[in-house]
Amino acid sequence: MSQLKSVKELDVKGKRVLVRVDYNVPMEKGVVTDDTRVRCSLPTLTHLIQNGAKIILVSHLGRPKGAPNPKYSLAPVAQHLSQLLKKPVAFAPDCVGALAETAVKNLREGDVVLLENLRFHPEEEKNDPGFSKSLAGLADLFVQDAFGAVHRAHASTAGVAKLLPRAAGFLLLKELEFLGRVKDNPTKPFLAIVGGAKVSDKIEVLEKLLAKVDTLVIGGAMAYTFLKSQGASTGKSLVEADKVDTAAALLKAAAAKGVKVILPKDHLVVTAIDDPASASETKGTDISGDWIGVDIGPQSIENLVQPILSAKTIFWNGPMGIFEVDRYARGTREVAKRAAEAATKGATVVVGGGDSVAAVQSTGLADKISHISTGGGASLEFLEGKELPGVTALQ
Ligand code: AMP
Repeated sequence: MSQLKSVKELDVKGKRVLVRVDYNVPMEKGVVTDDTRVRCSLPTLTHLIQNGAKIILVSHLGRPKGAPNPKYSLAPVAQHLSQLLKKPVAFAPDCVGALAETAVKNLREGDVVLLENLRFHPEEEKNDPGFSKSLAGLADLFVQDAFGAVHRAHASTAGVAKLLPRAAGFLLLKELEFLGRVKDNPTKPFLAIVGGAKVSDKIEVLEKLLAKVDTLVIGGAMAYTFLKSQGASTGKSLVEADKVDTAAALLKAAAAKGVKVILPKDHLVVTAIDDPASASETKGTDISGDWIGVDIGPQSIENLVQPILSAKTIFWNGPMGIFEVDRYARGTREVAKRAAEAATKGATVVVGGGDSVAAVQSTGLADKISHISTGGGASLEFLEGKELPGVTALQ
């Protein structure tokens, strides 16, 4: 995305810089429980601080549906950011109007203020021109660094960008560089690993990936719909009955293109998802009776080692099983380990999507992966070839 101006090219000294960040982070009882997205914004913020900008941060958090709701306040994130930056971060209880304006007036060079949740105003998600104007009125320059939000045409992504001199932050540029490499220029062999719950969520990206990949691994509950389409028994596993034909068509298209598809050859099964003690391994592909597939089995894990280690580009989205339950996390963790090993040996490994990111992080191997995307939805839409309105607005 060379046509995007980098924040490095802006003269920010003494200027009020509105930065759209993605601080849509998980929180429990007012404490940030995963600060990956906050950490990922630090390179841009540090650059702006060191260059004497007055920094105004805006973000959304959760789905407050256009009304103030203390549950979705960004105030705890301001505190957390302050610890990470090792300097005070002011907080304003509104993102537009007098409270925001006063907070911005108080900024000196290098100061940072985080404004309250954009989605407390319904105008944000409607990309309302008046609301975009109010946001733009707070600043001299605009920097977009919220990769996780650029697939939405909202006031803080599309609207405001058109009203101010603008640039992309370092996180956005890094996301577009790595995902762009996967999309347009993957070094071969290119392996995609797609898992998670639903075929319907990922069908478009699967179709797009078929045109590029050499090998496609399908795991997670999604795999059962594919196995069903091949006539296998799937017991009581999660199957999308209305997607069985789609799965069959996809396998046919893959065969026609010479893409190797790897489906699980065995499974970890249980009699009830909340009863890990009932877990047992199948002897083959079929899942009989009332058994429910919750993870790929040992043979399937073994079958993935060589394809992962011989790939030069790997894109991974979606877990291999219900990895939130420790007993069912082995397949996902083993894939994470092998992907990290492949990256160490020089492959470009890009992980996208909240759950696979959490899985990689739980193995402690996140720093070995070439790039972990902060945007699940945005990374899939980008790979599907869809326009990202928040990026278009910067061009
Ligand atoms: P996604 O958001 O589509 O990537 O799906 C992630 C979710 O898929 C996680 O919450 C997993 O628990 C779930 N998942 C993965 N494998 C299975 C499975 N075999 N049965 C039910 N859910 C699964």
